Amino acid sequence: MVENAPADAAWTNWAGNQHSVATAVLRPCTIAEVTEQIRCAAETGERIRPIGSGHSFTPVAVSDGRRMDLTRLATDIRVDVDRRLVTVPSGMTLRQLNALLTSHHLALPNLGDIDAQTVAGAISTGTHGTGAAYGGLATFVEALTLVTGTGEVLHCSAAERPDVFDAARVSLGALGVLVEVTLRCVDAFVLRAHERPAALDAVLAELSGLINGHDHVEFFWFPYTSRVQLKVNDRVAVDHAPLPRWRGWLDDTFLANTVFAGACRLGRAAPALAPTISAVSARALSERIYTGRSDAVFCSPRRVRFLEMEYALPREALPEAFDALRRIVDRLPFKVLFPVEVRFTAADEIWLSHSYGRDSAYVALHQYVGMPYEPYFRAFEEVATGLGGRPHWGKLHWRDAASLAPAYPHWQDFQLLRTRLDPHTVLSTPYLTQILG
Ligand SMILES: Cc1cc2nc3c(=O)[nH]c(=O)nc-3n(C[C@H](O)[C@H](O)[C@H](O)COP(=O)(O)OP(=O)(O)OC[C@H]3O[C@@H](n4cnc5c(N)ncnc54)[C@H](O)[C@@H]3O)c2cc1C
Repeated sequence: MVENAPADAAWTNWAGNQHSVATAVLRPCTIAEVTEQIRCAAETGERIRPIGSGHSFTPVAVSDGRRMDLTRLATDIRVDVDRRLVTVPSGMTLRQLNALLTSHHLALPNLGDIDAQTVAGAISTGTHGTGAAYGGLATFVEALTLVTGTGEVLHCSAAERPDVFDAARVSLGALGVLVEVTLRCVDAFVLRAHERPAALDAVLAELSGLINGHDHVEFFWFPYTSRVQLKVNDRVAVDHAPLPRWRGWLDDTFLANTVFAGACRLGRAAPALAPTISAVSARALSERIYTGRSDAVFCSPRRVRFLEMEYALPREALPEAFDALRRIVDRLPFKVLFPVEVRFTAADEIWLSHSYGRDSAYVALHQYVGMPYEPYFRAFEEVATGLGGRPHWGKLHWRDAASLAPAYPHWQDFQLLRTRLDPHTVLSTPYLTQILG
């Protein structure tokens, strides 16, 4: 169904740095409606941009034609507990998915920092969590159903149309509209979280042992200091030390959001205080150990708005990248108010995955909204590019198709498939042309 609804034709993303006004808003409820809309657009020369929750920082979800919102798409939900497979509509949010899995005593093997994204949105940009032996969310996809740019409904998996499967799992909405996704889950599990302040140099020195000796390791470096907050999550059998509700609220809602927001506002108003704020933040974070359901430990609320760029580097390049990053931060003509997050993923076989063919270390730069960020991000982008880095598809970067092509061995295969599946460029946008060609 087409809704020419000027009232909600205007759209903005979570960070507030991307905007668009659609010519129409489509809210299909069935796969047949998705097909009909695509066919109609192909005939009339219109463009369609499928969107998720708008949590990408880049213009990947910006539409210059019709916007397709998949939240009403109601395909059958199928849970195969024995094979640990779940099939859901693509517009389901990760939060809804986690609740569904919990009710069947299942879980996703890994998650990122938040659960607000849709299943399709998350996999389409290569969303990932941390864990040296774990791939991003797209690697948990067992099968998917795609409505291509000609309106054809394609089911694919490793056994059925493997080329489409390898391309479509991370495809930025460029090959078609994902309508159904089957995910490979695991039995529900408990994580023991150990968070502690540490020295950056010590963490880098013992990195290999740390990330290979634990399930999920990440750290946050506080600019202008030599301190990090190290977070180590391991699977354990029993939920024996849950955080008291007040402590969870104090740490994750009050300190990590309310107090941090105040500190950022102060730093924005008085940038000279930023190094002190960073040092105080690094010192204020104390050690804590607790257990909890996996999704509750992996994901936490993010209420302080920021802009972000994240680069996936060959894992061995991390120390060199960090040396350069410290020098960049020290020389900037403005201050950085947000910590730098470092995570790890395993190599995978998805053509446009940031981790294609190599174990990766991800370095994510953040800056508080309203603060300058471009010279900071661009300076690190230059370093990361030189080290063979691949930018996260959902996070800010300034690379174009010519610069990205050599970073992905299957780039040309992806282009051929794109031409085959979307010959009328129904799913293209000016931004996709810029980054994919
Ligand atoms: C606060 C915050 C925390 C974040 N944490 C992490 C993190 O921990 N790890 C990480 O890797 N990333 C993280 N991200 C980035 C985020 O996961 C990605 O940008 C993700 O793509 C957002 O999903 P979405 O549902 O909002 O999709 P959108 O941003 O709306 O869309 C993303 C892409 O998916 C496409 N798309 C959406 N639905 C469909 C569909 N049905 N069919 C085909 N294509 C579709 C869109 O066209 C677009 O290209 C974070 C972002 C924010 C704002």
